[in-house]
Amino acid sequence: MGGGIAGLLAARVLSESHDVVVLERDKLTDEPEHRAGVPQGRHTHGLLVRGGELLEELFPGLRDELVAEGAVLADAGDMQILNRLGWLATTHMGMPLLSLSRPLLETCIRRRVTAEIVDGVHVTGLSLRGGAVDGVLTRDGRVDADLVVDASGRSSKLAAWLAEAGITTPAPEVVDSGTGYATRIYTAPKDFPVVYAESLSAPDLPRGVAAMRVEGDRIMVTAQGAVGDHPPRDLDGYQEFLDSLRVPISEMLAGAEPLTPVYLFARTASRRNAFEDVANWPGGLVAVGDAVCAFNPVYGQGITVAAMEALLFRRHKDFSARGCRAFQRKIAKASKGPWAMSSNADRSWVETRRGGLLGWYLKKWQAGIVHDPDLFRRFVRVVHMVATPATLLNPVVFRRLAKYSRPGPRPERRPAGSNPR
Ligand SMILES: Cc1cc2nc3c(=O)[nH]c(=O)nc-3n(C[C@H](O)[C@H](O)[C@H](O)COP(=O)(O)OP(=O)(O)OC[C@H]3O[C@@H](n4cnc5c(N)ncnc54)[C@H](O)[C@@H]3O)c2cc1C
Repeated sequence: MGGGIAGLLAARVLSESHDVVVLERDKLTDEPEHRAGVPQGRHTHGLLVRGGELLEELFPGLRDELVAEGAVLADAGDMQILNRLGWLATTHMGMPLLSLSRPLLETCIRRRVTAEIVDGVHVTGLSLRGGAVDGVLTRDGRVDADLVVDASGRSSKLAAWLAEAGITTPAPEVVDSGTGYATRIYTAPKDFPVVYAESLSAPDLPRGVAAMRVEGDRIMVTAQGAVGDHPPRDLDGYQEFLDSLRVPISEMLAGAEPLTPVYLFARTASRRNAFEDVANWPGGLVAVGDAVCAFNPVYGQGITVAAMEALLFRRHKDFSARGCRAFQRKIAKASKGPWAMSSNADRSWVETRRGGLLGWYLKKWQAGIVHDPDLFRRFVRVVHMVATPATLLNPVVFRRLAKYSRPGPRPERRPAGSNPR
C-alpha cells in the first residue's frame, strides 16, 4: 500500500523473493512531477549520506543516473550552515552528497523497481481471515495477498483499520515543534552554494531556511518557522520572512527569477507508532516508513530510515503473526536512534525547563562545530547516519569540547553580496 519511497524500496527488496504488487492511489507519470499523494514533494528533501549509500546498494549506478538527470553532486562537508553561534566549520570530507528534488529521486527509483506498480488504486481497508490479513480492500474491489505492507505514509489509516478488526494499537507518541514550511523555486544564481541553511534553534530562534541547488539549475528555498511562527504564502509576507533571517538569503537570491508560487506544508510533527507492542498483531501484515514513524522533516531522516527498513526484508522470512511482530520490533529498532536524535532536539521547543547535562553538552557542541573542523566532521558523520551518536562520547571529543566553555558572539549580519564564509 503506497508507492512513495518506503513502498518502492520495500518492493525492491521483497521482489528478490516474492511477486510484489505496489498499489498507489495517485496516477503516476514517467517524468518527475509533483503529485497530490506526496504533498511534501514541493519542499526541499535532503538525502543524507547514509541514505545515498543505501540507495546505491539497492540500485547500483543510481547516483550517476541522478547526476545525468541534473542532480547536483556535492560534498557533505561543504554545506554552508549557520547555527546560533556562527557558520559551521565547513571542511571537505570526501562524502558524496546529492542535491535534488524529491520528484526526481522518486521517479528514478520507480523506473528501477521491477515489481508491478498499479496506480490509481485507493486502498480503503484490510481484509482479515482467521486472525491474519489476506489482502486489502480498495475503492473498486479487493486484492489478495500473502503479505500486506503498509507504506502509505503520514496519512496511513492502519491504526483505524486495525481498530475496526478489534485490534487496538497504542496512541502514537507525538513531539510537535509546530514547524511550518514555505517553499519557492528560483533560477540559480551562479555562486549560490549547493546546500545552504540557517538553522532554527530552540528556544529563541524559531526562524530558519534551507536552500538546495536541484536539477534544472534551480534553487529550492524552504523557509521554516517553528512554534507556529510559520512563513506565509503571500509573496510579500514570504519575502519579509526571508528578510527577517539573521543572514538575508534574499541578497544571495538577487537576480534570481522566481519560477513558482509559494507552497506551504505544516504537518511536520514527529509521530511514532509502537506497533511492535501490539500483542494480537495479525499475521500477513507489516508497516514501514512514515506509516510507522514520521520525523520532523527539518532533520532530513525519513528516506534514509525507509532505506534501512527496506533492507530488513532481506533477512526476514517469517510473516506469521509472531514473525510480523518480530519484524515490527526490527523496524522500531531501525528508527530508534534517528527518533531519539530529532525528538530530543524538538522537545526543547515544547519543554521550557530543559537543560541539565544534555543541554550543557549540546551547547558545547553548538560552539564546537563552529570553531573546530574535527568536531564538525564527527558531527556531520553522525547527522548523516554514517556513524552512531556513541562515536561522540569519547575522551578525545570531550577534551576538544572542553575548550568551548563560553559561546562565541552571535554572527554579524553578512554584508550584501558576500559569500557566506
Ligand atoms: C515537508 C517534508 C519535507 C521532508 N523532507 C525530507 C528530507 O529532507 N529528507 C528525508 O529523508 N525525508 C524528508 N521527508 C520525509 C520523507 O518524505 C518520507 O520519510 C519518505 O518519503 C518516506 O515516506 P513514505 O514512503 O513512508 O511515505 P510517502 O512518501 O508520503 O508516500 C506514501 C505514498 O502512499 C500513497 N498512499 C497513501 N494512502 C494510500 C492509500 N490509501 N492507497 C494507496 N496509496 C496510498 C501516497 O499517495 C504516497 O504515494 C520530508 C517530509 C515532509 C513532510
